[in-house]
Amino acid sequence: MPAPASHPGLYPLFADLRGRKVLVVGGGAIALRKASALLDAGARVAVGAIRLEPALAAMAAEGRIDAYAGPFDPAWLDGAWLAIAATGDAKTNRSIAAAGEARRVWVNVVDDAATSAFHVPARIERGPLQIAISSGGGAPMLARHLRETLEAQLDHSLGAVAELLTRERARIRNAFPDLARRRRFFDRLLSGAVPALLRQRRILGAQRAFDALLLDSGKQGAAGSVILIGAGPGDPGLLTLRGLRALNEADVILHDRLASDEVLRLARRDAERIEVGKRAGDHGVTQTGIHALMLKHARAGKRVVRLKGGDPFVFGRGGEELEFLRAHGIGYEVVPGITAALACAAYAGIPLTHRDHAQSLRLVTAHRKDSLEAVDWRSLAQEKQTLAVYMGVAMLDTLQTQLIAHGRSPDTPFALIENGSRAEQRVISGPLSELVERAGIHDAKSPALLIVGEVAALVDELHWFGDPPLRAVSPDPLEKAA
Ligand code: SAH
Repeated sequence: MPAPASHPGLYPLFADLRGRKVLVVGGGAIALRKASALLDAGARVAVGAIRLEPALAAMAAEGRIDAYAGPFDPAWLDGAWLAIAATGDAKTNRSIAAAGEARRVWVNVVDDAATSAFHVPARIERGPLQIAISSGGGAPMLARHLRETLEAQLDHSLGAVAELLTRERARIRNAFPDLARRRRFFDRLLSGAVPALLRQRRILGAQRAFDALLLDSGKQGAAGSVILIGAGPGDPGLLTLRGLRALNEADVILHDRLASDEVLRLARRDAERIEVGKRAGDHGVTQTGIHALMLKHARAGKRVVRLKGGDPFVFGRGGEELEFLRAHGIGYEVVPGITAALACAAYAGIPLTHRDHAQSLRLVTAHRKDSLEAVDWRSLAQEKQTLAVYMGVAMLDTLQTQLIAHGRSPDTPFALIENGSRAEQRVISGPLSELVERAGIHDAKSPALLIVGEVAALVDELHWFGDPPLRAVSPDPLEKAA
């Protein structure tokens, strides 16, 4: 049966059609285009139609294609692996699809995604390298648009790169039987001089550079390393380009729970992923456990990515991890990320500093009682500064009471941003004196960032992402009476 209107998604494949019979039904311009593309792929093309347009007739006369004359006959499908219905007549096309279905021949009906058993994607070709784009048949114009965008971006020398890699495949495999090391070689190769030389059509120079790199990389030991990456607050668009590249080169990814699925989806598919996340209350893998995992994989020569929510150096224990790596002689790098305070403020429309309202910003954690006991409340309660409080949801009571007790006005605005930058973002706002009450009414949950300070009032005016700030819902009057 034809695929239902909404299905779980098409399964992409690249078919080897060499010497295989493919039937094209129809004798017009579209049939000609399809037949030519199929011939290019090495298929044995048969075209069936009442009348063939001149170019097709010529191809048949030259013996490049077989031809059937007359109205569609299911027997034409005999021996075919695929068929394309391009008659321009919807009813005939549907009967071709049905006849194909009955014989288990895959039929594509031109411009009729719902009746097609397979779709022909929009294509970008660079030598043996092909990129196929499909919108599942539902939005072919989108696929075409994307194809044009990508065409402009993908240099034509990529074809030469693909040819070189195909030619040198066996040598590369022999030089690097170990997959992780082979992958590192490819990364060096592709970000090095060889593609640039091919772009300049310096084929000989490219080959020489390739040989040199193969020799050089073969001599190097497999030194693993760790790269700490800030994943940002959740929206994958907020990951840095450097972070994205490192994720694509990772062999192993140790990630927090705060690193969103969308960000993880950008990572190399075959990288090993290990969640070492901390859930509220439970601490998942301990910090010592994380250290041990980093060490084990780095010593095995892997490129380890330690992916953390926000920025690794803001309440992320990145410092401890580097100290550990340094002590064990493991190389490392750090890629900053957009920390929750910056992201939440931006996505709530709250400038953290403002010439009229706040001259300084403090990042504070309210993770545990003792971390709050050590703080200098008087300095935190000063006016005209913005507090960005991390991990504060369980401590709102203490925060509200102590800030007011140490001189912050009860009218100081606050904004509590839950799931900042994510689709589920919610902002609760109000005066500091009602922080606990309003968070309670709206059932605020972690992860949430609390902003306290004059600037928080601007959320009402400047918010732009997601729903407007939640107002206090006055308690049910009946409940009050009771
Ligand atoms: N290294 C991280 C912070 C880790 S501590 C960073 O730089 O952002 C975890 C706390 O960060 C959470 O309790 C919450 O207060 C805050 N947080 C992280 N992501 C958040 C998000 N998307 N929305 C709101 N708060 C977030």
